[in-house]
Amino acid sequence: MAPKNANNDLPPIGFCIVLLLGSKYAQNLRQDASGLTLITARKIKPTSVKLVQIHEFQEMMKRLYFKRDSERGIDGTYNWLVDEVAELGEELKGNDKEATEKEFADVIAWLASLANIMGIDLEKATLTKYNDKCPKCQGSPCQCTF
Ligand SMILES: [Zn+2]
Repeated sequence: MAPKNANNDLPPIGFCIVLLLGSKYAQNLRQDASGLTLITARKIKPTSVKLVQIHEFQEMMKRLYFKRDSERGIDGTYNWLVDEVAELGEELKGNDKEATEKEFADVIAWLASLANIMGIDLEKATLTKYNDKCPKCQGSPCQCTF
C-alpha cells in the first residue's frame, strides 16, 4: 500500500523520498500538465515524516499479527499493552538503554495491535488531536502552565 498523505500537503512520492533520505529536506517530485516530472526542493516538517511512519508501522503490525490479535481480542490485547508499559517502567529504573529501547518498541507494537483490532488509524487519530500545536492551548510549543 502506498504511504498515506494525511494532510494532503505533498504527494506520496515526496514522503517515500523523505523516508529514504531520513531528512527533513527532500526532493518533491510532481508532474506538470504535460506529464513531465518536476523536481523542486521543499522543506518538509519532521513531524509529518514521523506520522507517515506511524501509519506504515501500523500496517506492518497488521500484516504480521492481525489474525492472532483478533483472536485474542480487545481485552487480552489491552492487558498485553499494560504489561509492556509496566515492563518499560521497570527498565526506566535501570541504565540499560538498549533494553529500554526494546520496551519502547514493545509498547508501540502492542498499541498498534490494539488499534488494529479496534479499527483505529493511529496516524489519523494522532494528527487529528495533535495537529502541529497543543490541543489545549493551541500553542507551538505548548504554553500550558501545569
Ligand atoms: Zn498547551
